Amino acid sequence: MSRIAVVTGGTRGIGEGISLALKDLGYTVVANYAGNEEKAKAFTERTGIPAYKFDVGDHEAVLAGCEQIASDVGDIDVVVNNAGITRDGVLHKMTWDDWNEVMRINLGGCFNMAKATFPGMRERKWGRIVNIGSVNGQAGQYGQVNYAAAKSGIHGFTKALAQEGAKYGVTVNAIAPGYIDTDMVAAVPEPVLQKIIAKIPVGRLGHADEIARGVTFFCAEEATFVTGATLSINGGQHMY
Ligand code: NDP
Repeated sequence: MSRIAVVTGGTRGIGEGISLALKDLGYTVVANYAGNEEKAKAFTERTGIPAYKFDVGDHEAVLAGCEQIASDVGDIDVVVNNAGITRDGVLHKMTWDDWNEVMRINLGGCFNMAKATFPGMRERKWGRIVNIGSVNGQAGQYGQVNYAAAKSGIHGFTKALAQEGAKYGVTVNAIAPGYIDTDMVAAVPEPVLQKIIAKIPVGRLGHADEIARGVTFFCAEEATFVTGATLSINGGQHMY
């Protein structure tokens, strides 16, 4: 049996690594994206994985998108809530819009995807939800009150939903990545990035496939006794 997995923001960066790792293990993978058509098209051509466009922060779009996936591919067994954005700035310069968009997409996206898929998993008595948090949701980060709050919220969301799914074979876990070499981190100014790398014990940025390994662990058929957990994959940065 091939489990059906949806990876939000699954067409590039960490999400692409997760989509590919799940596909390699035999999952039927569907990737979601927000609107970068060029990257999504290239991803599907390269990998053969279909990409569905919908905004994870829009609950109606998520319901419609998940219904479409279920009708095209089948019942969704695995959700990886990976889609996320940054709108960095110190508090006194951060706009309401910067706050709201990050909360809507990063945290609201997890809720919307769970609303659309968790009831079915619960009914079928099997499911895997993996939420991508952040080391900055655990430790906080200068200039990221919106992002840190949303990611910290993901860690709480994970533990609460894990309790609801536990008796129904639905596990809910989180990964807290450190700094990974994607477009998101490419936007960090070079001097700031060098200071960040100096604080990572392994001395470099991580790679998408290193996050994907954690996701595939949580999604495994045998991973029946791990739920509500957060796995830090950050080159040792969490020790500081
Ligand atoms: P990227 O910016 O490289 O990719 C983001 C992906 O999310 C894209 O596929 C994008 O789609 C999608 N996306 C963005 N907004 C939405 C939306 N509203 N609806 C649906 N899809 C959306 O990010 P990363 O790969 O770096 O990050 C992936 C996740 O990992 C994020 O949640 C991020 O916060 C988290 N993370 C990243 C770290 C890092 O160092 N990179 C560290 C810790 C956590 P499109 O291509 O269409 O724009």
